[in-house]
Amino acid sequence: ATPMSVMVGVGKAAEYGALIRQGDALQTAGKIDLVILDKTGTITEGHPAVTRVHAVDGDENRLLALAAGLEQHSEHPLAEAILARAKEDEVSVEAVNGFEALNGKGVQGEFNGETVRLGNRRWLEAEGLSVDALNEAAQAITREAGTPLFLASGQQVLGVIGVADAIKPDSEAAIRRLHDAGIKVMMVTGDVDATAKAIAAKAGIDDYRAEVLPEDKAEVVSEMRGKGYTVAMVGDGINDAPALAAADVGFAIGTGTDVAIESASITLMRGSLHGVPDAIEISRATVKNIH
Ligand code: ADP
Ligand code: MG
Repeated sequence: ATPMSVMVGVGKAAEYGALIRQGDALQTAGKIDLVILDKTGTITEGHPAVTRVHAVDGDENRLLALAAGLEQHSEHPLAEAILARAKEDEVSVEAVNGFEALNGKGVQGEFNGETVRLGNRRWLEAEGLSVDALNEAAQAITREAGTPLFLASGQQVLGVIGVADAIKPDSEAAIRRLHDAGIKVMMVTGDVDATAKAIAAKAGIDDYRAEVLPEDKAEVVSEMRGKGYTVAMVGDGINDAPALAAADVGFAIGTGTDVAIESASITLMRGSLHGVPDAIEISRATVKNIH
């Protein structure tokens, strides 16, 4: 590899908004044959909105007041959506104490002497709660590619809130470019299967893994490398840092968190997935010039 041609390639990539932070990433990028994409903030905009509020007793404002009471302490994109809706509906947010965020599960705190939990079904069921009474509402949410978040106070299930995130307008086209370049594309997400399936179908991805806990995303990367793939991981969140570091090439979406950016070898400054096929094409051209 002549330093000169690598420099030219790095400069070219920068013109496309792909900042190469590790020198050898440019050469490795051309060998990528599997791209693993995070869902939230990577394929989707990362700014979800509330689509449905369904309270068991019909009191939607109380549901939002408690949910927002928890989420006001959270930095997750889902929290943003719930707080925006609470504000829009002018509900007065409850003061919840002892807030805790549980990665890949949800959030919890204390209110009126009870533990209040907001999160996914798997977690609430593990806590001994049944959310079966909300099946119909939850299905309506996942059918629209939304994420159902269940709220419970103590052992009482109060309702479900649907939160959905739009796919970035150019994600589908960028994924098609990867396919056309002979690259396999896969999505990993902590979201439930039905929602993951709906988003994957919309984005044109045939392979996905749902309900992957943040710490297990890196394991999926290692598993696929073990199968012989040269793997790129693309993510934006604080949760994605270990997976980005585990990949042959980690791409951080520049609009994501600092932690993700530090763990990645390439930062995509434009927030668009097109940066991935751009970098791969530039790498292939650069390496061809070297040999
Ligand atoms: P993703 O892979 O889509 O970025 P995460 O691993 O961050 O997802 O979260 C996985 C799931 O955990 C979410 O779909 C949600 O059900 C639950 N969860 C995580 N954080 C929160 C939160 N702040 N409020 C409610 N639910 C949450
Ligand atoms: Mg995430």
